[in-house]
Amino acid sequence: MANRWGIPKHIEEFVKKRDTKCVYCRIVFTTENNSRKNKPSWEHIVNDIRLNGTDNIALCCMSCNASKGSKLIEDWLESDYCKKKEITVDSIDEVVKKALKNPPKLNNK
Ligand SMILES: [Zn+2]
Repeated sequence: MANRWGIPKHIEEFVKKRDTKCVYCRIVFTTENNSRKNKPSWEHIVNDIRLNGTDNIALCCMSCNASKGSKLIEDWLESDYCKKKEITVDSIDEVVKKALKNPPKLNNK
């Protein structure tokens, strides 16, 4: 079972529990109202949909997702968006730090 982003159900459940804030700007997600700003969206930290593990799947807010698009994190962190929001290598979530240091790779299953 996988959702429409190709993310296996157990990964989805794990990440939903882990990421209660945007992994980039740390905005706290809400599900109560329909504020688009605080809505979580699925993010592949390394932009490769085949990398489906908990080390590459994360939740970030819609505005970070829209801004990052398909950019590399390293490049995106240099963008005006990140500068304005003070998103830096030090402020991002642990899971993103790990992915930067040790990029998730495809394993031969
Ligand atoms: Zn964000």
